[in-house]
This record gives sequence, structure tokens and C-alpha cells, in this order.
Amino acid sequence: MSFEVLIVGAGFAGLYMLHRARSLGLAARVFEAASGVGGTWYWNRYPGARCDVESMEYSYQFDDQLQQEWRWSERFATQPEIMRYANHVADRFDLRKDIRFNIRVVAATYDDIGKRWKVRTDDGVETSAQFLVMATGCLSTANRPDIKGLENFDGAVYHTGEWPHEEVDFTGKRVGVIGTGSSAIQSIPIIAGQARKLVVFQRTANYSVPAHNAPLDPAYEARIKADYASFRARNSLQINAFGSNLPRSPVLARDMTPQERRAAFEARWEYGGLFFLGALGDLLLDKQANDMAAEFVRGKIREIVRDPAVAELLSPKQVIGCKRLCVDSGYYATFNRPNVRLVDISKSGIDQITPAGVRVDGASFELDSLVFATGFDAMTGTLLKIDIRGRGGRTLREAWEAGPRTYLGINVAGFPNLFIIAGPGSPSVLTNMIVSIEQHVNWIADCIARLRAQGRASIEARPEAQEAWVEHVNAVAGRTLYTQCNSWYVGANIPGKKRVFMPLLGFPDYVTKCDEVVAKGYEGFDIS
Ligand code: FAD
Ligand code: NAP
Repeated sequence: MSFEVLIVGAGFAGLYMLHRARSLGLAARVFEAASGVGGTWYWNRYPGARCDVESMEYSYQFDDQLQQEWRWSERFATQPEIMRYANHVADRFDLRKDIRFNIRVVAATYDDIGKRWKVRTDDGVETSAQFLVMATGCLSTANRPDIKGLENFDGAVYHTGEWPHEEVDFTGKRVGVIGTGSSAIQSIPIIAGQARKLVVFQRTANYSVPAHNAPLDPAYEARIKADYASFRARNSLQINAFGSNLPRSPVLARDMTPQERRAAFEARWEYGGLFFLGALGDLLLDKQANDMAAEFVRGKIREIVRDPAVAELLSPKQVIGCKRLCVDSGYYATFNRPNVRLVDISKSGIDQITPAGVRVDGASFELDSLVFATGFDAMTGTLLKIDIRGRGGRTLREAWEAGPRTYLGINVAGFPNLFIIAGPGSPSVLTNMIVSIEQHVNWIADCIARLRAQGRASIEARPEAQEAWVEHVNAVAGRTLYTQCNSWYVGANIPGKKRVFMPLLGFPDYVTKCDEVVAKGYEGFDIS
């Protein structure tokens, strides 16, 4: 089989890429490992899974009729509702006929002579394509820590990122959750409501702000839909490509009185969601400003959690916002329940998993089920699992030995006609990802259209443009507090992973740069 464009993945990136490729008249095909569309929302079916970018923003904008007609029911949509949306999009644009499900891409090799990608799937078949688009996701390879004895556990084992399709009922069970990131923080209150006993194993306490989720206000929906385009345009001008309803304050912490700061924190805590990080202009730039925000959240934890020792254990010490801020519905209050226990594993880790449960620092916790909420090998893990070989047989693994290196987060020098959607070096995970995805897909589709119009066959980043870009991404991160914690943004959650800050901060500047590159005839790329 041979195609002009081969797309790997049928999440929001792959679906829109297919739609754009088809509207250019290109022969395009998607290969997807899952049995359905939706990507993240197909795999992450754990209790409580929902978006934390508001539904009216966490959706496509490429088709006005689609965004006018679709109706979200809550401020933050649940996983099942987002799945219904992804399926609706697939049906509405008749995408399924060009998607092959239940097939995994295992290798992709660039043929220097034929100037085509040869792609091997896990059924042993080879497919060739002129352009290969990796819509494989930033958070799509589960991190399953290698804990001694796991294989001997007698109970059921789950990972939030690979949750079963059938309903999991924890009623009457003794459940352990390992991890306290966003997935854990969403699922813990619900699991606690079902389980007989819940034990949470915490390595690092995390900051979480309330979602204040509610049914979507029809008046608000009508207001946005009356001029959706302007709302989208305003959001695109925000540093994280969302949240124009309550933009980041331009005022620095030192220019406010303690009362003004307190009022700003309170207002945003009451508003709910990720907006909290915009309370001060320099919250993620200045350590003193950051400390003030962090102490405010610790104060809230002390107010909510009745046992002072538990409150202290739940209180994070690191910079707030440099691990992704979590958004919850009743997370801290869950630790007031008599059936919930918090276990600190920051010093000793987990000794081992036994047939009966988990052992920490000599103490045993007997469990029926164990939930790994341990996250992902983010941004690079899924790409590096595929044996990708570019010009001269050089592997992507070799090219990224010192951490991921891309130009614009879209292409890698030495890998012609390979496009990555929301790749490392682009704003991706620091933004409303659907906005970033659409911007990348549009850039890639326009690029392919132009190459064809000019009778050109290939495009590839120049090494010097890539080096300058990598330096730029590092320099931008270096001016912020983002690099200061052991987050998945720097790969610190995966043992042995090179520590590099992978995404680029600042969506509007990035879009300007991408547009400039095109205006200057694809500056930094070789085209042949
Ligand atoms: P994905 O949705 O990850 O899709 C990638 C697809 O590629 C998957 O279906 C996978 O099966 C397939 N694939 C990968 N490798 C192969 C292979 N080798 N062969 C075949 N198929 C392959 N972002 C936000 O902006 N706001 C949010 O509120 C938000 N909430 C999130 C909540 C959770 C629980 C998680 C995990 C992430 C969340 N994100 C959020 C980030 C989310 O990943 C993106 O918003 C978006 O869904 C990514 O879409 P994608 O198509 O790029 O990747
Ligand atoms: P995560 O943020 O990486 O959290 C993983 C948790 O597991 C952390 O508490 C981590 O501790 C712990 N952990 C990892 N390895 C461990 C080990 N070996 N032993 C003990 N503990 C271990 O993963 P996630 O919660 O799945 O979230 C990942 C990202 O997905 C989020 O940051 C966000 O971007 C997205 N997401 C969004 C939402 C939403 O609200 N819309 C929900 C879920 C996910 P350390 O901190 O010590 O590493």
C-alpha cells in the first residue's frame, strides 16, 4: 500500500490532520493502535477523568457549524462526553473510512533514493508514504514503574492511562493508589466514595485548585456562540492559548499590598481552575512571588484537612506551577474521610509489592486492587518506542540522545518529510492542546500543499536552524521557574531520561515565528 500522507494516531491531532489532508485531495490514511478514535480520551477512562481547560475552549474551531451545533453539558467536560465529541467529529466528517484501527506502527524508515517513508506495522505489513505525520500524542505511553514484586500481587492492577473499557467497581474493596498527579487527584475522591478502604501512596505532594465544575450556563454558552471566532482569537493571544475570560494579571507581586495579593488569590481560587497561576504577573518568574502563591494554597489545605499531620503531608514544598497544576473536585477534603489513609513514600519509596498488598518502610497495607496513577513517558516516549530511522539509517533515538531536538517542534534535521504534531520544542502541553494541534495541522497541511504546488518533493530542517531553536526553547524556559522541579516536563519521572525542558513557553510568539518562517520561504528548512 502506498499513500501520500500517512498519519499515526487518531486522537484530536490525527483526526484533524486526516480531514485537512483529504480536503487537499491527498491520499491519506491513519493507523491507530486503539479500536476507536479519541486518543487520550479513549485510553484514560479512570473514574473522574475530565478536562481542566473549559469545554467551550477544549474543542475544535476549524468548522464553525461544528462548534455552533455541539453542546457541552458541563463547564469541564467528562471523559465520556469528550469521547462522544471525538466520535461525532469522526462521523460528521466521514473520517473512519480512512482510519485503520487496532494496528500499531512499529518502525518507519526513510528511503533516501525513493524519497519516501517505509512504515512497518505490527501485522508485519509495509506501507509507503511521501509524508509521515506523527499524531501519536504527548501523553500516550503509560509510565509503569518497575516495583519489586508487582507480578506476585493477587489483586487487580490498573493504570489510569490504560483503564479498562468495562466499568470497574471498587465497592467494598481495599484499594491502593500510587501517585498524586492530576489523574490521581481526579480519581481519588471518587474511588474513596466507593472503596471500603483507600490507601494513597504519595511520593510528592501536589498543588491542586478547585474546579468549581458546574452545568454549563446556557446564557454563557449563547454569549460565546454569538461570536465564537472573537473568543477563539482572544484565547489564542494568551500565553497558554486559553483563558481570555480571566487573563493573567500584568501586576507584579511587589507592586501589590499583601491585602491585594490575598484578594487576587482568593478571587482566582473561587473562580476555579488553572486561572490561579495568573494571579500575579510574575508568579512563574519570581521565586518570592511564587512562594506567596504556594503559601496561600498550603493555607487552604490546612483549612480543609482536619488532621494537622495529614495537612502537613499534603502540603507541597516545591515551586507552584512547575509541575503541572492540578484541578480537583474535593481532593483535599477526601483525606477527612475515615476510610482514607495517606502514606508518605517520599523517603523510602515502596519496599515491595507482595501477594497481599504493598509494603512501605516495613509496614504492610493489605489491598484488593492497586491503581497506578503514575503518569506517562511524556513527549518522547511514544515516538522513541517506534524504530524511526531517517537519512542514512540514523535512528531518532540517536538523534535525541542528548534529549529531544527539533526545529519548531515540527521536524527533526535528518528526517525529511516527517512531521510531529505538538512535538517537543513546541508549546503543546503548556497550552490548550486542541488549539496547538490545530495550529500545527494547519501549518503542516499548508506546507504539503505548497510543496506540491511548487513541484517539490521534500522538506527537512537545517541542523543549524534546529540547534538555534533548541537553544531558544531552553533560554525561554531558563527565564522562568518551570525548570525547578522534578516534573515530567523535564523527564524527571522516568529513570534515566535526559533532563531537558521539552515544551516551549508562549503560544502567541510561537505562532508569529511559525508564520515568519513560512513568509521567508520556509526559512531554516531545506526544500528539494
Ligand atoms: P492522543 O490523544 O494521545 O492520541 C494519540 C493516538 O496515537 C492514540 O490514540 C494512540 O493510541 C495512537 N498511537 C500512538 N502510538 C502509535 C503507534 N505506534 N501506532 C498506532 N497508533 C499509535 N490537554 C488539554 O489541553 N486540556 C485538558 O484538559 C487535558 N486533559 C487531559 C487529561 C488527561 C487524563 C490526559 C492524559 C491528557 C490531557 N490533556 C489535556 C492532554 C491531551 O493529551 C491532549 O489534549 C490531546 O487529547 C492530545 O491529542 P493527540 O491527538 O495529540 O494525542
Ligand atoms: P503525573 O502528573 O506524572 O503524576 C504521576 C504521579 O505518580 C506523581 O505523583 C508521581 O510522583 C507518581 N509516581 C511516578 N512514578 C512513581 C513511582 N515510581 N513511585 C511512586 N510514585 C510515582 O501523571 P498524571 O497524573 O497521569 O498526569 C499527567 C498529565 O496528564 C498531567 O500533568 C496533565 O497534563 C494531564 N492530565 C490532565 C488532567 C486534567 O485535569 N485534565 C487529568 C489527568 C492528566 P512524583 O511527583 O514524585 O514524580
